[in-house]
Amino acid sequence: MGGSDCLYQCQTTNCGYLYDPKRGDRKGKIEKGTSFDDLPEDWKCPVCGAGKKMFKPVPGTGCD
Ligand SMILES: [Zn+2]
Repeated sequence: MGGSDCLYQCQTTNCGYLYDPKRGDRKGKIEKGTSFDDLPEDWKCPVCGAGKKMFKPVPGTGCD
């Protein structure tokens, strides 16, 4: 497995929101410690509303 601490960044223009598993997403009712892979498929960026497909892993943050 691995990569549970991996940060994911929203790739939408002008957004740049970072999903941090250690923080979760309070607005989306995601508990701390939830890895990006474990987010619900209908989870959306709390800033711009983009879907999970718009996110990419941030190298060097625990991604494999
Ligand atoms: Zn976004």
